[in-house]
Amino acid sequence: MQTTPTALLALVLACTAPALAEEQWSYEGRAAPPHWGELSERWQTCSKGMYQSPVDIQHPIAGHLPPLQLSFYPRAKSIVNNGHTVQVTVEDEEDFLLDDQRWTLKQFHFHVPSENHIQGRGFPLEIHFVHANAHGELAVVAVMAVAGAANPALESILGALPPPRDPPQKLQQKLLLTQLYPGDRHYYRFSGSLTTPPCSEGVIWLVMKQPIAASAAQLARFATALAHANNRPLQPLHGRQIVE
Ligand SMILES: [Zn+2]
Repeated sequence: MQTTPTALLALVLACTAPALAEEQWSYEGRAAPPHWGELSERWQTCSKGMYQSPVDIQHPIAGHLPPLQLSFYPRAKSIVNNGHTVQVTVEDEEDFLLDDQRWTLKQFHFHVPSENHIQGRGFPLEIHFVHANAHGELAVVAVMAVAGAANPALESILGALPPPRDPPQKLQQKLLLTQLYPGDRHYYRFSGSLTTPPCSEGVIWLVMKQPIAASAAQLARFATALAHANNRPLQPLHGRQIVE
């Protein structure tokens, strides 16, 4: 079944509410990723799709893509731990131009460990910044984190984290999104899908080449907050090209 762009956008915003869908999916047990496509008619793309995410980024084609030009506009945010991920919802707080369109940040969330891999390498944490254009089409900017210096923005998020399945809370602390992006904004680009049901395709993926740093303690606190790994396994490329 095709998901329209507008429905897709509604979907990624609905994740702010605690997970109470009629069908439940999970990262473990009978509702784990290999079974997502069987759990609901509406989720068949999870098993039948040909352009699924995440992927291992191998053999990129040199497209000489310029670095992503992100603009930031500090606005109010809310935060939730919905049982699947830790998610921060924003109001048009950051955007960029790509393919002559403006893509505006809607929410960002965390995966422990990373979903995408780069040249066969996984990372302890991956942040997904979910953007939409005026038509409700999606572009996800992914940023990897490695162990190093403590990250002040991650500290603000960890400090404000509500207990699992509590309602979203307003984020009071100052949070500078620039601290969640690497200084070097070169990226890999490819076509993919949502990495959670309904696994809808037609999502533009922009994976930053350079990781950011987070302290080992911060990485451990994210793992504890999520209580279990929330990374979908790698999906086949099926001939897709990755451009850098
Ligand atoms: Zn994600």
